[in-house]
Parts: sequence; C-alpha cells; structure tokens
Amino acid sequence: MKGTFPVNKFRELETPFYYYDTNLLRNTLKTISSEAGKYGKYHVHYAVKANANPKILSIIRESGLGADCVSGGEIKAAIKAGFPAGKIVFAGVGKTDKEINLALDYDIFCFNVESVPELEVINELAAAKNKTARIAFRINPDVGAHTHANITTGLAENKFGISMKDMDYVIDRALEMKNVKFCGLHFHIGSQIMDMGDFIALCNRINELQEKLYARQIIVEHINVGGGLGIDYMHPNRQAVPAFAEYFETYHKHLRLRPQQTLHFELGRSVVGQCGSLITKVIYVKQGTNKQFAIVDAGMTDLIRPALYQAYHKIENITSEEPAEAYDVVGPICESSDVFGKAIDLNKARRGDLFAIRSAGAYGEIMASGYNCRPLPQSYTSDELV
Ligand SMILES: *Cc1c(COP(=O)(O)O)cnc(C)c1O
Repeated sequence: MKGTFPVNKFRELETPFYYYDTNLLRNTLKTISSEAGKYGKYHVHYAVKANANPKILSIIRESGLGADCVSGGEIKAAIKAGFPAGKIVFAGVGKTDKEINLALDYDIFCFNVESVPELEVINELAAAKNKTARIAFRINPDVGAHTHANITTGLAENKFGISMKDMDYVIDRALEMKNVKFCGLHFHIGSQIMDMGDFIALCNRINELQEKLYARQIIVEHINVGGGLGIDYMHPNRQAVPAFAEYFETYHKHLRLRPQQTLHFELGRSVVGQCGSLITKVIYVKQGTNKQFAIVDAGMTDLIRPALYQAYHKIENITSEEPAEAYDVVGPICESSDVFGKAIDLNKARRGDLFAIRSAGAYGEIMASGYNCRPLPQSYTSDELV
C-alpha cells in the first residue's frame, strides 16, 4: 500500500522537497496528549532536534507539549515557536557559557547536567546573575537499547551522562552549591527502540536508584526518562501513529513514582517521523551491467540517514502504476554512500517520475547540508497544498 499524496500539486513544485502531512501530525499529537493524560502527572517534551521546521514546531506547541533542547539555537527556536520557557529542558554534554546564560535568562524548567565541570559552571554563571538554576543529573543507567550502535547512548562507556557509581558524589556536590537546585534525575537510553523490554529495563534501574536515594532521604521532584520510542520504517502506513498507549502504560506499570513526583518524557522521532516524506524526481534511469539505477535529484545532503546509519526508508514511485522492477535508488552527490536503497521494487520508473521517500519527518530536513554547494530542501505542509 502506497501513501496518498497531492501528486498534481507536487508536479508544480521544484524538487526535492519535504512534504509534511499535518493531519497525521495532529492525530499523533492528540494520541500523545490523551494517552499521557491518563496518568495525570506525565509531561511530554518534544525533542526539537528531530525536526525544527517552524511550521512543525508551531503545530506541536499548539498541542501543549514542552520542548527538549540540546543547544542554544534550539532554545531560541522553541521560544520563537511559542513554547513556554517553563516547559523547556536543556540537555547536552557540551553546553557553552553563552548557551547556559541564554537558558538562565529565559528561566527554563531544567538543565539536564552531564558532568561535574558543567555543574560548577552553571553554578558560577547563575551566581553572577543572582539566580538559582534548576538542575537534573543525566545518569547513565548502563541499559543497552537494541538499536544501531551509533544511536545507543545508555551504555557505561559513552560520552553522555554520569555513571551510576558517581551519582551520590555529584548529588552531594550539587547540594552544597548555592545557585543550583537539584530537582531531578534524567535518562535517555537511545533511539528507534521497538522493544518495550528496553524501557522496562530502564524502569527497573530507576527503581533501584530511587531506593538508594530514599535511603538517604532524598526524593527528587521529577524523573525524566528521555525519548527513544521507535517507528515502523518498513510499513509507514500500517501504524502511522506509534504505539503510545503501550509506551506510556509500560512506564505506568513498571516505574514506581513517589506520590509527589512527576514523570517527564522527551519524544522526538515518534512525534514527527511518519508525517514527513522527501519528494524527489527521477532525473535518469540508467542501465548497469546487472542492475538498473534510478538517479534522483535528492541526495544524502537532503536525507543523510541511509548514508550515515544504513537506515532503511521505504521508497514509492507515486506517479506510476506500471509493473514493478528492481532499482538501486541513488542521488547525485559525489559520494558512493549516496544511496537511498538497493534492489528496491518500484513501479516502473521513467525520467520525470516522482518518488516519495517515506518516514523522513525525523532527523531528515534538520540534518540537511549544503555539501556540493546544493541548496537546502524546501518544505510544504498538507495545509498549504490543498
Ligand atoms: C535525541 C534525544 C531525544 C529524542 O530521541 P528520539 O529517539 O527522537 O525520541 C531525547 N532526549 C535526549 C537527551 C536526546 O538526546
């Protein structure tokens, strides 16, 4: 089954471009709000790094989600899109003084702190402004997510986070500082996680850590479990809205929150992944010795995931119903890794046909580059093309 697209409108537009189905995005957001809402104290922050297109950000902000930012630029983009500063969390291993000052000026909800040197700098900069920074520690739970090595972040030897054995020490340091307030524990074990067992393992680990803190009479205000819920790249239409009911229920069943604690999530891919497609035109169909190539006008500069992570994206010829043939779908960039798919069955392709590269709403447009002096891709929403 192919997706449905306004193909006649597409023919009037210069390719390649990103197309966002805003109805699907709104349905996804509605499901998130109703499923998380069942538990009363669940707060979802959208991970801006997945897609910071202003049109997408403003729809997400309308739904009431907060924002999870990993740079000063993302904080500015979130504020510009209207996210309340009180719902912004700020993570990242290398926050600069300038970024910390920006976050202090906006009085964001919380800094997710990843090292003692960072804690010291936040304390100093907050003191200079006569402020108190709210902080959570990002703890490395040593839980391995069953996903691609480049997107696993929760193992012990990793640049992210603070190891569990250092937790007591960093908390003691924070408690003796005057300009930081220790409020929470933060975790994020990786991305594109399809196995709920990985999240259960995280819950069990957090329960253990909470017991240890409780023994010291410490109860944090909030727990932040990060993001990571995956999407079905193989079948974008089968479950266009990811399994949020099961996801939140997993946390409800397995994580023991103390009565006053709130639970925070930072979801990126699962919010925006399925609503975006990269639309590209076939420039040439080239016969090789044993295969044929569909050479398209989009490249790894527009969507880098296949080249960077060997990621699979479903490709559809949305302008042909002729019998399928096998193609290697490749871009025009001068790199051998500029391949969107090998031996892909597609309706017979001719010069000028349009392909949709599906599930490209997350880590697509935002990772585009100008390599080969190419212009950045344009974007259109379904609202704009009616
Ligand atoms: C990337 C990231 C997220 C979002 O991850 P998804 O897999 O897109 O849900 C959440 N929190 C942190 C700290 C991140 O770095």
